[in-house]
Formats: sequence, C-alpha cells, structure tokens
Amino acid sequence: MSERNYTILQIAEILHVDLRNVHDHTGVNNNISSNASIGHPISINNLVIDSRNVIDAESSLFFAIPAERNGHDFIADAYENGIRNFVISDPAFIGQFAEANFLLVPDVLGALQQLAAYNRSLFNKELIAITGSNGKTVVKEWLYQLLAADFNIVRSPKSFNSQIGVPLSLWEIEEEHTLGIFEAGISRMEEMQTLADMIRPTIGILTNIGEAHAEGFSSPAEKLAEKLKLFKDTRLFIYSPDYTGVIATKNLPGRQQFSWSTKQKADLQILFVEPIEGKNYIRALYKQEEIECLIPFSDRASVENGIICWATLLALGYSAEEADLRLEKLTAVNMRLTLKNGINQCSVIDDSYSADISSLAIALDFLKLQNQHERRTLILSDLYETGKNDQDLYTEIASLIRQKKVNRLIGIGPHLSAFAELFDLEAVFYQSTEDFIHQLPAIHFANETILVKGARRFGFERISKLLTQKIHDTVLEIDLNALASNLKFYKTKLKPGVKVMAMVKAFSYGSGSFEIANLLQYHKVDYLAVAFADEGIALRKAGITLPIMVMSPEPYAFEAILKYQLEPEIYSLDILKEFMAFLPPSVTNYPVHIKIDTGMHRLGFEDPDLPDLLALLGTSGQLKVISAFSHLAASEDEVHDDFTKYQIERFVSLSGQLKDGLGYDFIRHISNTSAITRHPYAQFDMVRIGIGLYGFDSGIKAGRGLHTVAVLKTTITQIKKIGPLETVGYGRRGVLPGGGTIATVKIGYADGYRRAFGNGVGQMMVNGQLVPTVGSIAMDMCMLDITGVEAKSGDEVIVFNHQLTIADLAAQIDTIPYEILTNISQRVKRVYFYE
Ligand SMILES: *Cc1c(COP(=O)(O)O)cnc(C)c1O
Repeated sequence: MSERNYTILQIAEILHVDLRNVHDHTGVNNNISSNASIGHPISINNLVIDSRNVIDAESSLFFAIPAERNGHDFIADAYENGIRNFVISDPAFIGQFAEANFLLVPDVLGALQQLAAYNRSLFNKELIAITGSNGKTVVKEWLYQLLAADFNIVRSPKSFNSQIGVPLSLWEIEEEHTLGIFEAGISRMEEMQTLADMIRPTIGILTNIGEAHAEGFSSPAEKLAEKLKLFKDTRLFIYSPDYTGVIATKNLPGRQQFSWSTKQKADLQILFVEPIEGKNYIRALYKQEEIECLIPFSDRASVENGIICWATLLALGYSAEEADLRLEKLTAVNMRLTLKNGINQCSVIDDSYSADISSLAIALDFLKLQNQHERRTLILSDLYETGKNDQDLYTEIASLIRQKKVNRLIGIGPHLSAFAELFDLEAVFYQSTEDFIHQLPAIHFANETILVKGARRFGFERISKLLTQKIHDTVLEIDLNALASNLKFYKTKLKPGVKVMAMVKAFSYGSGSFEIANLLQYHKVDYLAVAFADEGIALRKAGITLPIMVMSPEPYAFEAILKYQLEPEIYSLDILKEFMAFLPPSVTNYPVHIKIDTGMHRLGFEDPDLPDLLALLGTSGQLKVISAFSHLAASEDEVHDDFTKYQIERFVSLSGQLKDGLGYDFIRHISNTSAITRHPYAQFDMVRIGIGLYGFDSGIKAGRGLHTVAVLKTTITQIKKIGPLETVGYGRRGVLPGGGTIATVKIGYADGYRRAFGNGVGQMMVNGQLVPTVGSIAMDMCMLDITGVEAKSGDEVIVFNHQLTIADLAAQIDTIPYEILTNISQRVKRVYFYE
C-alpha cells in the first residue's frame, strides 16, 4: 500500500495531544505513554471527514469537523463502518465505543491542517501552488499533463482547494513524489495565511483576479493582497501585471518573477492570438525573440489558461520549441462524471477522462449511490502515473472495489489482466479496448449500472458511446453537485432539528426521477413528495427507501400505495373514507398526512370539517397521522405577507385542534421554498423544498447563494442565407427586412419550447451571443436569426443556462420558471453530471 507510515500514536505526537486522551481498543483510559503498544498499531493511510466515504476503514482516521453538519454526529456511523480512530473536540464520546481510539483536540479542523502541514514538511522537492479567481483547476490539471513525463507528480484531487480540501490534498504527498501541484482557494480575508502555512510553496502561480468571490473582501486590492500571501516565500512567482497592476512590482512576492501579458511589456509578451479551426495560434515576444504556440482550444478562458501554462514551462526552463510541442497536446479537463441512459435498461456513468485512484474512489462512490439497479459493473483500464508499483496499485484497487460493492469487473489492459487473481468478484479481462469492443456483442449487459473508467489512452469514450442510447441533439444537463449545494444552502437556513421534505413531483420539476431522488437520499433529506402514486412506485422500484408522500392518491392506486409503502395525503373526508374502506382489517397505524386549507383554497380540510375528520380518525386505529400541513399561496411576495401571516396563524390553530382531538403529536409543515428564508418563524418541524433545489427562489434577490442546476442545449442543423423578400417557416411569419442568416435548431414545441417563443419573443445563445427566434416555432425545430454571428452547423445552442436563465425565459412569455422547467418533454434526454 502506501509508503506513508503514521501510527495513531505518532499522529497524536504530531498533534501534541495529551496522550492520556488516546484510548486503546478496550475503551479504557490507560494512561498510555508514547512507547506503549496500542490496540491496533496499524498505520493510518486515509483521512476521512465524511463517514459515508470510507475506503479502507481500518487504516482511516476520522476527523469530526464541525461544518454545516457537526462531524461529531457521524461518529457512530463511522464506527459502524469500521473506523476505529477519531479526532474529536467533544470529550463526551470518549469511552462510548469499545474499540475506538480518540484524540481529543481543541480544534478538529486545526488538527487536520496541522497533520497535513507535517506531512508536507517531510517533502523537500519543488511544490507549485496555484491561486486566482478562475482557472485554478484547469491550470493545475494542464501542468500535470505537461509535466508528467518528467516528474512523479502529486496534485490536488479535483478542485480540492479549501480549508479542508488543501489538507486532504497535502496528505496525498508520499516519499516517491518528485513534484507537487496544489491549488488554493479562499473566499474571505485571513483564510490564505492558514493555507500558506500548510502548503509552503516554492513556486507560485496567480491565474487571474476576477469578480468571483468578491463578497468576502472590501476591495479588489484587498482580495489581491490576501491571495498573494500564499506566495510570500516562493523562489519563483508567475503572474500577469494585467491583474496585479494595483501593486508595485517591487512589492510582489517571489525571489524571482516571471510575468506574462497581453497588454504590456512582460517576460512573455503576447503579440497576437489568432483563432484557426477551433484552435488558437499565439505569437509572443520572449527574450527578444518571437516565439509561437498552438493552444488546441477555441474559447477565451482556455487561451488564458494556456498562456499561463506556457509562461510556467518557460519559467521552469523549458525551451520555446519544447513548450510548443507539449502545449499542442493539451486535452480538455473534465472532472465531471456523466450519468446517461444506456442500452438494455442500463445506466451508464461515463468517466473516460481521468484515471487515478482518488478519482476512481469518487466514481465508485457515485456508482454506489445509484440504487436504480441492483447490479453494478465496473469497466476499468490500466492506470498510469500513480507513483505505485503494479502489485500495490492493483491490490489497493481490488480492496476499493470490494468495499464499494461492485458486482462485476471488466478489466482492460495488460497490467490489470496480469493481476487478475487479486480480484475476488465476477471478472473478465481483455488486453485492449479493441479486444473488448470486438467481443462486445457476446457480453451481456442489462438492468445494471455500468461505470466506464479508463485512462485517456484507452479511448474509453468509444465504449461509452456503444453502451449509451443515442442522444437526440437536444439535452437537458443536470448538475447534481449544484443540486446538492442548493440543498445545503437551505439546510443552513433551517433551525436545528427542522426536517426536510424534498418535492420531486413532476419528475423532480422536469429534472429527472431516481437520479435526483438517489442524490437526495444520499444527502439525507427526511421525506420525498410526489404528485401521483406511479411516480412513487417508480422511485421504490429504483431503490429509494425514504418515506414518500403522495399528494394525489387516486383510489385506483390505493393497492399500489400499500404495496410500495407510500404515504397518502388526505385532503377530504371522501378520500379519507375511501382509503379507510379500502384498507384491509389487518392494517393498523397506516401513515397518512393531513392537508389543511388555510387560504389557498385548492385542497384540504377547513374549520367546519374538523369534527368529522377527528371522529373518523379517532374511531379506528387504522390510520396514524404522521404529519399535518398546509400550503402558502404567496410566500415569495412581500405584497401578500399579511395574508401569509394569516395563513400561518390559521395553520397553528387548526393543527393545534387536530392534535388535541387526536391526543398525539405529529410533524407540522407549511413552508415551501420561498417561505424558508422569507418567513423563518414558520419552519415548524419540517419544510418542503421544491423549486429552490433547482436553483430558483423568487424570494431571494438574484438567487444569491443558489446554483443553476439545469442547462438546456440544442444544436444547429442547418444555416441559410435569406434575402429581404423571403420568409421563414410556417405561415410565412418570419421575415428579415434587410435579409440575413438563419440557423435551424433542433428544438420545437414538442420538446417543450413553447410556440409563444416564436417571432422574436424568445432568445437563445449561439457562441456566446443572444439571438432571437424568427418565424413560428415548429414541432421539432425552430429558426434563429444569427445574422452577424459566426456559427456553423453542428454548433451548440444554449436554450437556458446560468446566464440566460429560466427566469429570463419565463419573463419572455409571461409565465413562471416552474412551467418552463416542467414543460421540457420527456423525449429530451437528461444527462447528469457529478464531480
Ligand atoms: C410543489 C409544492 C411545494 C414546493 O413549492 P416550491 O415553491 O417549489 O418550493 C410545497 N408544497 C406543496 C404542497 C407543493 O405542491
């Protein structure tokens, strides 16, 4: 396994923990001295902060970090998962778990950072640190691609760059590494010093300074000064005066400096950037000579990131020719996993971009999170540049696969094949991707989740393509991380103990069904709610075990409701009587939810119904009221705040009467998304979050703190030149008075792009520019006026994203974001991304 060899006792010493706080496996405080032997003298390889993501429990050390959830609440969970070593700040846990070792510290996050700093201090090679507003991860990954031939590189996984991410990254440093590349990100003053003390870089790169994360700082100069703290003791600092202009050059960090600029004199002075065939050709002045390179990307951000890498290679002493050769081979950085529908009812997770152990562990976690199929298959290639010998590497992978409960392994590559006997599960091996593809027709794939994970050179995208359904060129991309982050946003707004019911009706507001429910279940919401029983049944069949409330329980579905343990909303005496009449006599205490009408006047019991309701509920033990709730008519709107308050008061009164009549208590809830932040006093025992999960909350200014979850994309099918006298589309309604260029795109009203968007009402984004529709929207396509915009057929077209938002579209046709989202038809393929 790893070369690192820290025992729990050594870690206690590094953390300067009073050793009396180290408990051996008997749980008795033994006053162990540092040379005494301890229950499990095994070495600690993994630092864990999330009890769910345990790879090798025995060699893991759990840090109970108080973040948005207090890590101490997960100690029992972690113990259950086999972890025996803990760093905690609350002594109450000591002695509670028979075999656990506890290190009691005043500050758990501080202890994690201290341990990471120690591990870093053992490393005496070059260490590059990258910070800046944008591009950190891409520059880090590109430098890795550019330098991997010459160094055994350890780098931050994904975009681990926070107060927690940095120490976890530094812990990855092992003896055999010869270069470190780490990113650092801050959002507030004073955070950088902590990161700088841990990372202690020898080389620094500042990517740029933009608007991102400006909230935590009083001025751009302050933000810059804070970021530069990272580089105080570097021997080499790589930057652009275009961004550091406000600081005098003599005050910049670094014993030696290397600058680049597109606007002024610099060590690498960019003369011009010229786009050619999807790439960018760049010329620059360097040491009084003109040099050139080709960045194999077309967008502006990639050009800047490419220039930063170019500057870095030159600053490190690579020749201009060598730098050009390497830059030309850069490949896209895609840290996202994609979940798509596959052949034969399979789900396919595509991760054919990166392949190292930490990204494999992340992908396996995502695989494990999928409950829609019982069977899980991993298609894996040989891994390269891991810094480990094959025996250790594949032993570690075998143990990872065992822990993550994979059912079948398809191994591709000579190295993996050579260690076939390490894998004690159903496994087949192929020498190459071609071999596998050749055999594919004979391999059985059905009703399973397949993770496709391979080193780039294996070209696994070919496998993903074969295993996934053809994607119609209009796709709705769902960012699962954004969804999780929106959930977190609302959770931080809740009073302690308030539960969360996630509204996943109408295919999770058009975003998907089990894909979203799996994620919500993983992030431990308390309840799900759907509109109809069949939605709930689909979730149960996909392995969702959370309680599910059904808001419109039709009598024909009662049988299924019972069979799949769904919980009906009871909103009238009729439905109550029907449900009670249906329930077999053997059933008692069946969970139901009582809907109270406090002013919406849609569904629910009102005052006069209460005596009958109580009489029915009281007479038999058939039903148990799990919750009582009501729905607010205008929680987002200030104008109606008095009415909202009135509704809330009604709710308190009616639910109180219900409780008194029943003689027992239940969960109370009335808040939807906007009420959570606008009427926090009305959170009661639970809130129901709907549209906020998908990134919209008209009660929050500019949606601050929320992330865009859904992006709808289509493509250009054809481009045409139109004369002034010609017309476009059905009814000849489209005209361009001066003539112009028309793009036909593959989305129409059958996809959910309403006819109301026609004739210039709607806009889409083509290559970064907003363009209007022309003529009527047809069933499967529509036309855009792209006059003056550079575009070709096959180009991507954005229907909505974080810039052109669903709220913008809603405003164009005078509707609400809810309708835009839920209108997107099921024939538009959903593709899920996860980092
Ligand atoms: C849809 C729905 C919600 C969620 O409302 P949002 O505004 O999307 O948060 C809450 N409660 C009920 C009863 C609903 O039908």
